[in-house]
Amino acid sequence: MKLEYPYCKNELIKGFFYSGGCSFKWHDENAGLLERTIGFGGEIVSHNEKVICYRCKNCNKIIIDLNEL
Ligand SMILES: [Zn+2]
Repeated sequence: MKLEYPYCKNELIKGFFYSGGCSFKWHDENAGLLERTIGFGGEIVSHNEKVICYRCKNCNKIIIDLNEL
């Protein structure tokens, strides 16, 4: 399936992020000091060590698909 970035309409390149054996966690930008400095807390958004993502090289943005394996 070909995807395009919704803002510039460039074709996205499929790839993945690799965590090196850890899960992926989300941290809100308004997180507390401990979370912002040492990564304490946060929300695990994927227990996989690899998440699929789509990159727009034009805008240098990446869309992560947390459901796709
Ligand atoms: Zn783009």
